[in-house]
Amino acid sequence: MTSRAFVLVALLALAAGAGIAQVPQGQQSEGAIQNRPGATRTPTLPPPSIIDYKPRSTLVVPQHPVPRAKYPVIDIHSHQPAPISPEQFDRIVTSMDPLNLQVLVNVSGASGDRLQQAMQALRNSKHRDRMVQFTNINFNNVGPGWAERAVAQLEADAKAGALGIGEINKGFGLSIRKADGTRLKLDDPDLDPVWQAAARLNLPVLIHTGDPEEFFEPIDYTNERWLELALYPDRRFPSPPYPEFDELMAERDRLFKRHPKTIFIAAHMGWHANNLARLGRMFDEMPNVYGEVGAVLYDLGRQPRTAHDFFVKYQDRILFGKDSYQPDEFPYFWRVFETADEYFDYYRDYHAFWKLYGMALPDQVLRKVYYENALKLVPGIARAGFPR
Ligand SMILES: [Zn+2]
Repeated sequence: MTSRAFVLVALLALAAGAGIAQVPQGQQSEGAIQNRPGATRTPTLPPPSIIDYKPRSTLVVPQHPVPRAKYPVIDIHSHQPAPISPEQFDRIVTSMDPLNLQVLVNVSGASGDRLQQAMQALRNSKHRDRMVQFTNINFNNVGPGWAERAVAQLEADAKAGALGIGEINKGFGLSIRKADGTRLKLDDPDLDPVWQAAARLNLPVLIHTGDPEEFFEPIDYTNERWLELALYPDRRFPSPPYPEFDELMAERDRLFKRHPKTIFIAAHMGWHANNLARLGRMFDEMPNVYGEVGAVLYDLGRQPRTAHDFFVKYQDRILFGKDSYQPDEFPYFWRVFETADEYFDYYRDYHAFWKLYGMALPDQVLRKVYYENALKLVPGIARAGFPR
């Protein structure tokens, strides 16, 4: 192949890989002898806004809603009060049972006295096997003496019953500053003793880095998250002042590689559910890294075949997590994972303007994603509620 032909082939492959839309350009296809009919028309009615336009689907296909997961589920990414009151816990468990949610991992990380109270509340509850608690790290004022204090706190929290660390939220990387005023980078060596302690204490780390890539892009009419960014100005991360998306992700990957003995669970599939090949390379290069599916169902359900193959290949590396605890939203996950249904609604319009499709995952993969992988990473979860 000549080098020019090679470049052309490479560019075509890149265009296909980047999913460049195959829309007709201009008024006439190359080779046609007449203009495409209607190519120059504009709407004769005022176009609706994206808020108002809600087309009713006329598609008639089999429907298999899944109100209850096929196997018991561990939600590795749940936000609950810490401590939780008996009344709150009753109410939560009443909503968990019909969904087949067996255990919630409370990653509203409590530390110190508040962790002690949270653990007390769980231990005194009749639902004691239904929730476990993670601790968290306070990243404020990283500087001389910080690591010793943070490690001592982690040791105390692990002793008090915390089974992991998290959720470390997106402020770490985006906005938290060191004692000297500079941005705290994810791979800052001052933090090394803490990640080493996490490995030594067998505490997996649930970490949320950045946000969807579109939140870092200009808010124009090609941005997939235009509506969400218009609704939530605090989700816009222009650079500067914020680091760029890829800069953050590179820091995160260096952190993961620097501490191969520490288990990291990348919340929201590391925000790469829209680019599973990239996430696959991460899984290949970093055996200590896992992914959690919270809040990215819109990306999995729009690529059911690619996502199916990805889940089969990386079935030992993916955990179920939901994040926001809204009981009526869980069945959308069950339906995408368990069925082969086509073109059904998603639950939040500002995440996605598209419909979802089922991935029809095999039972073995469902079991791993729903509970087996979480039981491996968090052995302190009671095994009683799960098949042997
Ligand atoms: Zn969260």
